[in-house]
Amino acid sequence: MGTVWEMAVWSRERPRALWALDGAFQEVARLERLMSRFLPESQVSQLARAAGQATVPIDPDLYTLLAQAQQVAAVSDGAFDVTMGPLVALWARADLTGVLPGPAEIRFAKSLVDYRASVLDADGPTAVLQHAGMSLDLGAIGKGFAVDRAVERLQAAGYTQGWVNAGGNVRFLGSWDRAVPVRDPKYPDRAFVRLIVEEGALATSANYERGWKISGQRYGHLLDPRTGWPADSGCLSVTVCAPTAALADALSTACFVLGPERSWLLCAVFPKVEALWYMKDNNADQMQLVITPGINGRVHDLPALQEEPIHADVSLA
Ligand code: AMP
Ligand code: MG
Repeated sequence: MGTVWEMAVWSRERPRALWALDGAFQEVARLERLMSRFLPESQVSQLARAAGQATVPIDPDLYTLLAQAQQVAAVSDGAFDVTMGPLVALWARADLTGVLPGPAEIRFAKSLVDYRASVLDADGPTAVLQHAGMSLDLGAIGKGFAVDRAVERLQAAGYTQGWVNAGGNVRFLGSWDRAVPVRDPKYPDRAFVRLIVEEGALATSANYERGWKISGQRYGHLLDPRTGWPADSGCLSVTVCAPTAALADALSTACFVLGPERSWLLCAVFPKVEALWYMKDNNADQMQLVITPGINGRVHDLPALQEEPIHADVSLA
């Protein structure tokens, strides 16, 4: 899935724990084989090939993931949309050729992005992309979904304490009593604040993670389906806490695209969802921190001189 995975459980029996962790990693590998748009035999690739022509039987897990994605797409009014494949492909191609996509290309790719034209049927289950040229990109929810499945595997093996982290898509087993560092979007190897998370999951969407370089200019990888361009909400990064990692992952993408004001209601729709945004400030050196009321008191500033270095992608210890 193009990121670093880390899993941990508290256990007195190391071999048994390693066996359970191995099972959880295998589950992640199985999901990747279903969901990757880079693997020709994945069901996501099969759906793209059958777009505009045929309904495809899909794995119940892919059905569940797509149903969750549809819910977030509907509530975010399409700011989050997993039918983003054609637009992502257009920008990836621009990254290779060094030429910005033209208005007609953007208009055409955008016309193929529409979650309402991705139709699911629980009987079967099956899915169909209704128009030729449509394709799925699960980059904004797949890792979170796989984190949830890994956690379920570990819980089924009897573990009640631990965590699973896929490049910042984190879910805790049981309750958690430590603060989690949130990266400074301007200096991502450092934490800027610490967030007290007691349970559930958190995910971050940020433009420092990935992007495209076209004619010397950097473009963020989070796209606004309404414009076809990289999102321009003034957001530098957003961290979302939610009961499940799939929801945190999907909502962090939506909250990045929409910015805080337009995400406020979106966060309120789902129980136990909170968010923290770093927003650009008019003064280029400054950032504004915006938080939903529910995490007031759980965000701890780090004094500038004591900003904590984050050594690896994984930074929960
Ligand atoms: P995340 O890091 O979870 O926010 O996911 C970002 C990835 O999701 C990108 O690299 C794209 O593959 C895909 N993506 C970009 N913009 C969107 C969007 N508005 N809705 C859904 N997926 C998106
Ligand atoms: Mg996401």
